[in-house]
Amino acid sequence: MATAFNFDLTATDGAARTGVIATSRGAIRTPAFMPVGTAGTVKAMLPESVAATGADILLGNTYHLMLRPGAERVARLGGLHCFMHWERPILTDSGGFQVMSLAGLRKLTEQGVTFKSHIDGSRHELTPERSMEIQRLLGSDIVMCFDECPALPTSDEEVARAMRLSMRWAERSRVAFGDRPGHALFGIMQGGVNRALREESAEALKAIGFDGYAVGGLAVGEGQEAMFGVLDYAPGFLPADRPRYLMGVGKPDDIVGAVARGIDMMDCVLPTRSGRTGQVFTRRGALNIKNARHQDDPRPIDEACTCPACRNYSRAYLHHVFRSQEIIASMLLTWHNLHYYQEIMSGMRAAIAEGRFAAWQADFHALRAEGDIEPL
Ligand SMILES: [Zn+2]
Repeated sequence: MATAFNFDLTATDGAARTGVIATSRGAIRTPAFMPVGTAGTVKAMLPESVAATGADILLGNTYHLMLRPGAERVARLGGLHCFMHWERPILTDSGGFQVMSLAGLRKLTEQGVTFKSHIDGSRHELTPERSMEIQRLLGSDIVMCFDECPALPTSDEEVARAMRLSMRWAERSRVAFGDRPGHALFGIMQGGVNRALREESAEALKAIGFDGYAVGGLAVGEGQEAMFGVLDYAPGFLPADRPRYLMGVGKPDDIVGAVARGIDMMDCVLPTRSGRTGQVFTRRGALNIKNARHQDDPRPIDEACTCPACRNYSRAYLHHVFRSQEIIASMLLTWHNLHYYQEIMSGMRAAIAEGRFAAWQADFHALRAEGDIEPL
């Protein structure tokens, strides 16, 4: 019998929360940061290494996996966990976000979206029903509703139209998902930066009923101030006893600000993508390892970091292998970034549990203010 999906909220401190999500693949400590494993791999990392950074859960992308290698093939090969050798929980997105960003290559109707593959130009259709089927074939533990997320800024009329379509699709997603013990379906709140639309969306989702709720449609060009503006009220529209997931966020200070406003889960390509482009995040800000000033520097990226890149290598070495386009540069810099992100999460979890989150936040910002932050 599969472990029932469950969220146990263990402590709150202001709006910030900490808890544990139970799934049939194991527990997820919240607040949780989910590294992105787009095509069945967290780029430049072994799954064991991702686990060693402290990640409890990964995100996989429906859009990429349905096109290559195909959801039916993954299912025949034992499901995504087995295929990619990651036995812990996996959350999959619905494919909606990627499909909607294929401007000019897709057609949107009430039924769903037809689009051309960016790989070979072949035609495909994604609907709420097909998205649920693909995520089931992949074996996802946390399944996301199929939705439409408009890029910001756009008109309130356009945001309202997309949100109401997404709510009709959320209902179809709920029906298609069915009853799957140990697995969860999350609804996605839309509504852009419009408070009334956010509230309308939350009410529609709660009427359908989901295992968890995502705040979608942010980190799509509105900027941090507008995003925090929405997060000042939007999490409060959602049930307190269910996980709240902020999609596609973000930089370290975005993550801390989101947790301070009541968010429990996040994902972003930033730590992995930045690792491959030579940008590293530290307690004192960001460093660009390709800059010439690192070429004679014997210090690690961060003296206090216990990741393999910082324990065993100098900034000079990392600068050298990055400039030489050696594969180990992507491996080490990605590892460091994921390690740092998980350190932020564990620091926040402990601080919230002990009722000292405001002090933790003040330290986080103070250290960055005195750091050697380089332009991105
Ligand atoms: Zn490190």
